[in-house]
Amino acid sequence: MIKLSELYSGKAKTVYRTDDPEKLIMKFRDSLTAFDGKKKSEAPKKGYYNAQIAAKLLSLLEEKGIKTHFDSMISDTEMVVDAVDIIKIEVIVRNIAAGSLVKKYPFKTGQKLDPPILVFDYKSDEHGDPMINDDIAIALGLATKDELLKIRKLALSINSILLDHLADKNLLLPDFKLEFGRRKGKILLADEISCDTCRFWDKKTGESLDKDVFRFDKGDLVSAYREVARRIVPEIFEK
Ligand code: 5GP
Repeated sequence: MIKLSELYSGKAKTVYRTDDPEKLIMKFRDSLTAFDGKKKSEAPKKGYYNAQIAAKLLSLLEEKGIKTHFDSMISDTEMVVDAVDIIKIEVIVRNIAAGSLVKKYPFKTGQKLDPPILVFDYKSDEHGDPMINDDIAIALGLATKDELLKIRKLALSINSILLDHLADKNLLLPDFKLEFGRRKGKILLADEISCDTCRFWDKKTGESLDKDVFRFDKGDLVSAYREVARRIVPEIFEK
């Protein structure tokens, strides 16, 4: 596979065209931003840890029957993915109250949410990713009613698989963000699952091991991401 020109560069990843029109290359970079890009930084090896964590979790989901855009890794930080038409909805799954949920509603940080709460945000920097409901998503033409139903079911299945997998790694999963895409009429899980898109808390200490370390200056981001990688992809430390 030959890497061609850049298709799109986001805050933490760059997507390239390839000589296969059905495939793209997604490169995980060391840059990171928070608060709508107002806070920016670089963290060496962050792209590597996130890429390895995402590859492992996307492969796990594939093994469990969830269709994802993941194809393979072609380098430590570059993932070959299926080209999809991204649905502009950020699907947030919440198992424990944290972050914006606590800011906006009378939940207490750490409060268990059972059953999990599912929230849809409109993926639009220009509008500040506002929360939307099915009616708004349909009226904006973001997805059909049937697609929203499928996305909801997929998000909850993905949550169960991840919770099961992380349980014996001493990692809590308070919440995470998913993105989906369309390919040949099917809905696929797209984007990434990593320390940039999930909250991970140490089960014993409650310590944040995710982007909150950067958002709220809680310590060394790279050590936190390395620790999650150590638990989810221990094999990369045996090389
Ligand atoms: P919150 O709504 O509390 O800010 O975020 C909930 C969860 O979704 C967190 O795990 C957070 O990392 C993830 N999330 C929400 N919006 C975004 C986003 O625009 N980008 C990324 N990378 N993660 C997001």
